Amino acid sequence: MLFNFFKIRTDDTELAAAVRIALIKALYSSHLSLVIGAATGLAISAMVSWYCPSPWIYACGAFISATALLRVLSFGMFKPGSADANAKVWGRIYETGAFAYALFVGQLTFLTFVITDDLRMQLVTAFTSTCYAAGATGRNTGRPLLALSQLLLCSLPLSIVPIIKPSLPTIFISIVNLLFIAVLIDLTLRTYKTVLDAFIDRQEKLRMATVYEHLSKTDPLTGIDNRSILKTNLDKLIEEARSRIAILWLDLDRFKQINDTLGHATGDAVLRTISHRLSIMHERGGRIARFGGDEFIVTLPVKDEAEAVATADELILAIRQPVTINNIQVDISGSIGISISDDDSDSDELLRHADVALYEAKAGGRNCVRLFDPEMERRLLENKQIERDLKKALANNEMEVHYQPVVDLHDFRIRGFEALLRWHHPTNGNVPPSLFIPISEGSHTIGPITEWVLMQSCMQAMKWPGDITVAVNISAVLLTDRTLPNIVSDTLLRSGLPPRRLHLEITETALLADDPDVRYVLDMLKRIGTSLSLDDFGTGFSSLSHLCRHRFDTIKIDRSFLNNVESRSESRAVIQAVSGLASSLDLTVVAEGIETFEQLQYVVKQGCSAGQGYFFAKPMPASAVLPYLSTADEELALFTKDEVIAGEANRKVKPRSRAA
Ligand code: C2E
Ligand code: MG
Ligand code: MG
Repeated sequence: MLFNFFKIRTDDTELAAAVRIALIKALYSSHLSLVIGAATGLAISAMVSWYCPSPWIYACGAFISATALLRVLSFGMFKPGSADANAKVWGRIYETGAFAYALFVGQLTFLTFVITDDLRMQLVTAFTSTCYAAGATGRNTGRPLLALSQLLLCSLPLSIVPIIKPSLPTIFISIVNLLFIAVLIDLTLRTYKTVLDAFIDRQEKLRMATVYEHLSKTDPLTGIDNRSILKTNLDKLIEEARSRIAILWLDLDRFKQINDTLGHATGDAVLRTISHRLSIMHERGGRIARFGGDEFIVTLPVKDEAEAVATADELILAIRQPVTINNIQVDISGSIGISISDDDSDSDELLRHADVALYEAKAGGRNCVRLFDPEMERRLLENKQIERDLKKALANNEMEVHYQPVVDLHDFRIRGFEALLRWHHPTNGNVPPSLFIPISEGSHTIGPITEWVLMQSCMQAMKWPGDITVAVNISAVLLTDRTLPNIVSDTLLRSGLPPRRLHLEITETALLADDPDVRYVLDMLKRIGTSLSLDDFGTGFSSLSHLCRHRFDTIKIDRSFLNNVESRSESRAVIQAVSGLASSLDLTVVAEGIETFEQLQYVVKQGCSAGQGYFFAKPMPASAVLPYLSTADEELALFTKDEVIAGEANRKVKPRSRAA
């Protein structure tokens, strides 16, 4: 028991602050017991002073009364709601009052026994101090040090009486009183332990409830709001908003590649960095949430559309800053779709609109911002329809491959043809590849379509004379598919076309991330013996390292440069630089989109090795290729390089009218 008594001192200081505060508040919780105690104290003081007049008893009575009144006053002033900050002070006030009161009650009993012989008053004070001791220990079990000190201060003086006034009754009272004290100490310590365990248990439950609540609203990786709380917050925001609310839905471009090539730990670090960068929105009253995967949603009050777009542009810039993780620099970009609330918007609709705008942003080449407009929704529905129709297009024989000649600009002979897919939609008519190819890339129909184009093209090329090549476009999304080389070699085997006659055109964007799968696929395609062309050069990042790393054979300068070769010096500079570069790297340069003699003259002057464009012929159906070949060589033979440069060939030959 004694051990327990000392242990509670250390236990008490180690208690969690929240538990200690709760215990201190419990001291002030029962007003009634304190008021009864105080009233009893006042009554006893008055009664004993009346029956046993003595200055000591008067003084003791006065102290009891003053302490009782001050304690009642302190109870009146205690406000549980604001007590947390100065709980310690309130604890001290309570303790001082309790100690003083117990001390004076004990002294009054002692004095009544020592300086008077009034048995009635002795009975009254002994009874009072014993009752008080029992009451105080019961009441203050939550603060056992206090309770036991009160018990000793109030009860022990009665047990000392026989030292001054020895008699059989006082000795008997003293012993019984000591036993009573011992029993009360034991009871108090036991009760305290039970009370404390219950308190801690409750506090722990409360803490766990808070933790679980926090977790249910938070994204564990980034610590920002998660998807489930986003909607609740958004509903509230729309309801309370005084201004309009913008939703900025961000999707990181090609995040999967980062995850696949650099590992999930790096991917996680990137997501944390992005959420940190987005947190600048907090300063503008915005909230950020992770919608899942690589998607984040920023909600913020805005004045108008312009402000929302400007903020999104700012975020795009912030995201584009490279991230360095474990000494590896990771380039990231993102696309943002925006929707803005009006008077009767609801959160579901706003989120849907932002999602539609994001879809457009991604389709628009990524790394860009789109603000929702109702047209987008219509287009989206149309695209979904195209997506459904595409799945049936091959089986329904709606697809056809057209071929556009590529002309050697040294001897003006046909080198090969580029295979370009055509879709004759049963109700919409001809759908341009620039519309359906991106949709098929997004809906996984591009694989079977490419396989089909490859087979058609190889089989057609087998019918062409000599070494005429065929070039097939390969979508960026297929370059990560390690089965592509097998498909290509299988097609070559089945068609019988020698691999060197097959060119594969790849757009530069496919090579932006240095993906091991892409490297593997390109390497295997080279080993098979096919020739690789870098398509639409100049529209992407135009990186020389791509050319060297992947051993391309041909560069195709995008036709946008030829379009304005006469008017824009930048376009001329690009053509000049690429031709120079290609000849030093021993690459073939094909100028795409030659429409006029002047354009032809310009690219010949710059040393481009081949040309393609409406000037020679438009893409034509397979059946038109052989008739075209039979006359084209003859017609083109009228050109010579020198004459083209001198501008004479133009007068000599009118290019043939081209097939549709
Ligand atoms: P691309 O590979 O750069 O093909 C060249 C595009 O330029 C073709 O458009 C062609 O018709 C057009 N063109 C050629 N000469 C001229 C010219 O003098 N003036 C103008 N204005 N245009 C010219 P098309 O056939 O509409 O194809 C567009 C794009 O669609 C292609 O660009 C290619 O990226 C993609 N594509 C076409 N067929 C396929 C395919 O089978 N698979 C894949 N993955 N993509 C394809
Ligand atoms: Mg191409
Ligand atoms: Mg091209």
